[in-house]
Amino acid sequence: MIGTSALLPTPERALASAFLACSGRGILFDCGEGTQTAMRKAGVSLMKTDLIALTHYHGDHIFGLPGLLQTMGSLERTRPLYITGPGDLAEAMDPILRLTDWVPYEIRLLPLPEGGLPLSSLDGRWPAGASLSAFPTVHRVPSRGYCFRLARAGRFDPARARALGVPQKLWGLLQRGEPQTVDGRVVEPADVCGAARRGIKVVYGGDTLPCPALTAAAAGADLLICEATYAEDESAPMAEQYGHTTFRQAAETAAEAGAKRLWLTHFSQSVKDPEAYLETIAGVFPATECGFDGKRTALYFED
Ligand SMILES: [Zn+2]
Ligand SMILES: [Zn+2]
Repeated sequence: MIGTSALLPTPERALASAFLACSGRGILFDCGEGTQTAMRKAGVSLMKTDLIALTHYHGDHIFGLPGLLQTMGSLERTRPLYITGPGDLAEAMDPILRLTDWVPYEIRLLPLPEGGLPLSSLDGRWPAGASLSAFPTVHRVPSRGYCFRLARAGRFDPARARALGVPQKLWGLLQRGEPQTVDGRVVEPADVCGAARRGIKVVYGGDTLPCPALTAAAAGADLLICEATYAEDESAPMAEQYGHTTFRQAAETAAEAGAKRLWLTHFSQSVKDPEAYLETIAGVFPATECGFDGKRTALYFED
């Protein structure tokens, strides 16, 4: 988690943002004012960002973009940077790109296809099973959340590979999900691997009311990062008015979705100590944790 604050940055919390790293590649979710500084504090290299996924175009989620884009230019980035977001991305990015001026790398606006985008199509160093998809959320402006998946192939079967005449040097590539040509014939990963195993799923909700699409996206997620702007149940009407979520509603979403872990973020500045409110929702979803700037975890395949 790069930042965990809603609306305005405070001395303790940068604006809500998160970074997902996988095989040395990276996705930055949202980029409010000060995100680049917060990334440095969190020990996350700006230059590992391949894709910036914006949840919506409120200032607290995008005002950091011109600075971040310029800094990447100053650090002599040359490989392309992708940016995706809801609604009319080109229109939303127009003033930002004009402010940013010239940079020595290409900025590519990226529509996410229905059903998700294999990230290896952006850069071959992403693992074959990594993908990003978006789902609509309910906020005051067009908004969406993101679901990152890392699929896991079935167990490799050396006997089947030998029977098909696949040389050992290609085994690893097939295990990574890449079809190989052997003696002019294509061998698919499924030809030499058992049934697919459970992969990894991370969901970043963005600003939203609790909504069915978020619950559906978070089904079985290893980690759900959900906004929880307001800590107290009494704030539910205000949360509804402004298109936000309370601690309890976030925990209920995670419970209903059968997620494994929930991290809360996007705290109102009135929530001075988020941890202090966890006991008020005890039992709703026990694997609830409050986010803080620099909080991190590593997720691994089962077994
Ligand atoms: Zn916000
Ligand atoms: Zn917002």
